[in-house]
Amino acid sequence: MTQNLRIAVQKSGRLSEDSLNLFKECGIKFDNGAGKLKATSSNFPAEFLFLRDDDIPGYVEDGVADIGIVGQNVHVESNKNVSEVKLLGFSKCRLSIAIPRSDAYNGIEDLEGKDIATSYPIILGNYLKDNGVTSHIHEISGSVEIAPSIGLAHAVCDIVSSGGTLLSNGLKEVEVIFRSEAIMIGCPTMSAEKQDILKQILFRIDAVQRAKNNKYVVLNTKNENIQAISKLLPGMQSPSVIPLAQEGWSAMSSVINENDFWQNIEKLREAGAEGILVMPIEKMIY
Ligand code: ATP
Ligand code: ZN
Repeated sequence: MTQNLRIAVQKSGRLSEDSLNLFKECGIKFDNGAGKLKATSSNFPAEFLFLRDDDIPGYVEDGVADIGIVGQNVHVESNKNVSEVKLLGFSKCRLSIAIPRSDAYNGIEDLEGKDIATSYPIILGNYLKDNGVTSHIHEISGSVEIAPSIGLAHAVCDIVSSGGTLLSNGLKEVEVIFRSEAIMIGCPTMSAEKQDILKQILFRIDAVQRAKNNKYVVLNTKNENIQAISKLLPGMQSPSVIPLAQEGWSAMSSVINENDFWQNIEKLREAGAEGILVMPIEKMIY
């Protein structure tokens, strides 16, 4: 009997939706109905554990889960013995130090001897140490941003995405100390069989991510322009060219990188491309 790869994802929070979509886009089906703690895939050797994000690194280290998805902030702060499998590009945020808006700030040395409230004592401690500053770190588990107004600390160190929460608590961001995105972590002692299942998942993730970065382009042109347009359509191979019913015209199609998208479209028009269609690609496998 094959073993299932056990995958830990956040039960409900900022990582949940993108984490679940990642596996769904890879064609791995499962039922994550409300309140479920566990789900087994109906078409892939995997089962999902729905957990608090803070618990995931520990479960992965212990091998209760084989892989898990957390923010890099939680991964680094947890300081567990897990392997870093893959950065995933979603749930981007930063960990910053903030102080009351009316306080002057000239640099990190202003925090010498001050009290800083945070849920990230390890990341903050490392940052202060690297910068040669000694502050008093007060570890608190939530509502960090109210600490200055209740007299608990001079400064805070917390996750920021838009800055709205800081602003409404009368704080200003003065140092970005860590940038984070979602990361897949893995148990270093995974069996060979489970490593094979993980490889299959990573192969699928690559195909999906590559597809997201590219578009499928179809256009019509007079035959005399085919050469020039071919040069602008690098694609996976040289573009396909199909004659149109109208004499002297062809349809050309290829794959184009999304980043170069607009720039290339302009050049294609200049080279004589007409009726340009741009379509999303679902999977891309080399
Ligand atoms: P849990 O109940 O599972 O412990 P939590 O309250 O600790 O959840 P969330 O607020 O859901 O955590 O955030 C999960 C992760 O998402 C954070 O650790 C961070 O990596 C990332 N994150 C936090 N805030 C944002 C944000 N505003 N935008 C994008 N990503 C964020
Ligand atoms: Zn959490």
